[in-house]
Amino acid sequence: SASLFAQVELAPRDPILGLNEAFNADARANKVNLGVGVYFTDEGKIPLLKAVREAERQRLEAAAARGYLPIEGIAAYNQAVQGLLLGKDSPLITAGRVITAQALGGTGALKIGADFLNRLTPDSIVAISDPSWENHRALFEGAGFTVKNYRYFDAATSGLDFAGMLADLKALPAKSIVVLHACCHNPTGVDLSADQWKEVVAACQAGDLIPFLDMAYQGFAEGIEPDGAAVRLFADSGLSFFVSSSFSKSFSLYGERVGALSIITGSKDEAARVLSQEKRVIRTNYSNPPTHGGTVVATVLNSPELRAMWEAELGEMRDRIKLMRNQFVNKLAAKGAKRDFSFVNRQRGMFSYTGLSAAQVERLQKEFGIYAVSTGRICVAALNSKNIDAVVDAVAAVL
Ligand code: PLP
Repeated sequence: SASLFAQVELAPRDPILGLNEAFNADARANKVNLGVGVYFTDEGKIPLLKAVREAERQRLEAAAARGYLPIEGIAAYNQAVQGLLLGKDSPLITAGRVITAQALGGTGALKIGADFLNRLTPDSIVAISDPSWENHRALFEGAGFTVKNYRYFDAATSGLDFAGMLADLKALPAKSIVVLHACCHNPTGVDLSADQWKEVVAACQAGDLIPFLDMAYQGFAEGIEPDGAAVRLFADSGLSFFVSSSFSKSFSLYGERVGALSIITGSKDEAARVLSQEKRVIRTNYSNPPTHGGTVVATVLNSPELRAMWEAELGEMRDRIKLMRNQFVNKLAAKGAKRDFSFVNRQRGMFSYTGLSAAQVERLQKEFGIYAVSTGRICVAALNSKNIDAVVDAVAAVL
């Protein structure tokens, strides 16, 4: 008889991984990979933060046994996550209305949130930004939902199509799930202003929508507190909503898979029931989260010295990205580039939609060994003092 797997089709390659493979195979010494989704130092390295190293030293010294964690993870970690999102004196936290579960990175948080929502409200539509992080659609479709786009990026201004976004949100049926990037939108770098967020909150209220905020870059735009502004607006609105947190970038702990799902409910009693159901989702997926990354992050966030050290290191990452944005814009202008790139300074976080076409991106790769995503997305955090001039020269040449 035929093999069990005879009918299995080869899945399409992940476009970013394909780009990395091509980059690794490129023999040119001055090649540059701007396709990645990772923060690099000016030396082109993934940093190990000093605060992380110190927390790891303490953990090693404690020689702690490795029993199972509770299904929802480390309590001190979950409390610290709530503090980052809502402020530790938030009345919602005091009222017991917020539940948080440690999760396997931001992706794991989105997944347990999506699975829970699909049990709660299976006929809901999920709306994601156009464009969005490439995994959003597949993840929510995989959880059983129909996924639609709402307008977001305006190619004409390399900014936000806010009128289109708001119109699309207002047209959604009640109980639609709206996935929103809380700050530092991936892939465009285009964020909402405080006033625009207020209108989005009002639209969610008026339309009886379910907001799901994805917070993967808290601290990369302006700092921990200001980057939490959108979450605070939703908190003040009285709406129930979801937040996925990721510490992959902000702690440079990509491979440790450190994230969390928080759900803001209507009452303490509701919170207890929702948590009990969320725990069933976790229990039947991976039972309970791993100990290392969560312990490290909890140690840093709950120690005043390590927390200050971490915020300073996060500030260095943020400032270096802003410096690279500035230099990219200024050096292109100084070269008399045929396009004004000043919008790159208005975009926030690790990424920029540069407006480069697929054909221009291909020329960058073929002629200059500079790799970017065909949508024109570059990782600004992969620029550094050694490669910026080569990148700017090449971009000017392909315009
Ligand atoms: N959400 C967004 C918007 C992201 O950009 C990313 C990572 O690139 C994630 C979620 C996933 O984060 P993690 O690597 O922690 O799973």
